[in-house]
Amino acid sequence: MFDTPIARRLDSRKLCDAEQLINGYIEVAELDGLLAYLETDKGRVQVNLQFQRDERHRPIVTGLVEVKGVEIICQRCLQIVTHDLRVDLNVAVVLDESQAEKLPAECEAWIVEDGQLNLRELLDQELVLSLPIVSYHADCEVKTRYGDAGAEQQQESPFGVLASLLQKD
Ligand SMILES: [Zn+2]
Repeated sequence: MFDTPIARRLDSRKLCDAEQLINGYIEVAELDGLLAYLETDKGRVQVNLQFQRDERHRPIVTGLVEVKGVEIICQRCLQIVTHDLRVDLNVAVVLDESQAEKLPAECEAWIVEDGQLNLRELLDQELVLSLPIVSYHADCEVKTRYGDAGAEQQQESPFGVLASLLQKD
């Protein structure tokens, strides 16, 4: 299902008119913005997006974008910690700022001046926003002078709680 690379350029208008479902992948190594926050370029972004028009005929892209196991530096022990990133995408493709301003508040605008959607650019930005604010190992051994690492960590990152649950299996 996710074994084909996503095309460099997508004609958003055509895809929306045809109510096309797009499945495929983008390598993390192709996303420069995201890479700036990562320690390695490991990982493959799985893309599952529905192109369609809403009741007001606006081109809309919705769906799920996920990447498992990106490698970030743990801010406590400075070793690699892996994270899964996930974006629930819901954007309207618009041609300029004035169209963007007319969108309802809950709808995010993606400005595509020539109608050719560069999905890498869009997903790069969205994935950066999905990064954890701080990244720590769930069970990081290093104690800091601020106190017990484990107790502090649980409040800071939902990933930490999830990771510790998974490790019990
Ligand atoms: Zn650590």
